[in-house]
Amino acid sequence: MKKNLFTAAKPTGRLTLGNYIGAVDNWKKMQEENNSIFCVADLHSLTVNIDPQELRSNSYAVMANYLACGLDPKKAVLYYQSQIPAHSELCWLMDCITSMGEASRMTAYKEKAANKNMVSVGLFNYPMLMAADILLYDTDLVPIGEDQRQHLELARNLAIRFNNKYGETFVVPQGVYQKVGAKIYNLQNPTKKMSKSDFDNSGNILLEDSIDLIKQKIKRAVTDSESEIRFDPQNKPGVSNLMSIYAVLTKKDMKEVEKFFEGKNYGALKGEVTDIVIETLAPVQEKFNYFMSNTDEIIKIAQDGAEKIREKAENKIKLVKQKMGLIF
Ligand code: ATP
Ligand code: MG
Repeated sequence: MKKNLFTAAKPTGRLTLGNYIGAVDNWKKMQEENNSIFCVADLHSLTVNIDPQELRSNSYAVMANYLACGLDPKKAVLYYQSQIPAHSELCWLMDCITSMGEASRMTAYKEKAANKNMVSVGLFNYPMLMAADILLYDTDLVPIGEDQRQHLELARNLAIRFNNKYGETFVVPQGVYQKVGAKIYNLQNPTKKMSKSDFDNSGNILLEDSIDLIKQKIKRAVTDSESEIRFDPQNKPGVSNLMSIYAVLTKKDMKEVEKFFEGKNYGALKGEVTDIVIETLAPVQEKFNYFMSNTDEIIKIAQDGAEKIREKAENKIKLVKQKMGLIF
């Protein structure tokens, strides 16, 4: 039987090569054999300070990139989180079974809250909204990057807790992670994750970057003072990150990659990575540009998508409310 798959990205910025490798490219493969829902988590974007115009344009851009990367509305549901109010409603119900202690332990929250002059309650609440997103649709599989592992664990715990207290209601979801590429690092700071919401994108390759910009960013990628090309994330994070990118995009395993680069210098590694990144992104960019100049198609796809799942979400909310003792 087909499994239910749910996953999302937030329109806090433009998708990066990290999002592509760790997430969207894998989603494309998984849509072939699962009942898949791909959400643009626009409500989640409000957890950071973002102006309406930017949110609107990022929202179009993330969906345009989903489509450009091969997520297919004929095979999967594509929609925006804010189209289905049940997400917010279930979030509140999840809030009420989450302890302050466990929510306070979320490392993504601590990282994102650090050095901000205003940290919203929404940012703190993010993992419970994410749990609601997943649990609404009886999700079996959640393909995500390594950075989301802790949030998925919370979603699982909340599902189990709810089922124990109120009776079998939620499917306990399972995270799906890539073997290589589950975490792509910032080219300027290779111990930090590549993230689309960064203020400074010099270490992030965006799927929309021009060829020249991609060349420049990879050329300037931080490596180390040795010269050996060896996969050793602990001691050689920059080089290992470039090797991971190369391995995933060329579909080679790391042993093959090490052998290929044996005796070659960092310049050669950067050159090969540049070529494969450009080759991978060229067709994506062409489709992306098409959808960005045809946003009416995006709206239509999202409207159709939301209508396919609205009833399921509403039924789930009804069931949850009833189990919790709410009479309407
Ligand atoms: P933000 O900075 O707003 O958190 P993000 O780049 O982390 O943006 P998300 O919208 O949080 O992107 O996540 C979308 C998907 O991409 C998730 O499945 C996440 O795990 C994955 N992902 C994000 N960054 C990376 C990365 N550097 N490497 C691999 N996967 C990633
Ligand atoms: Mg993130």
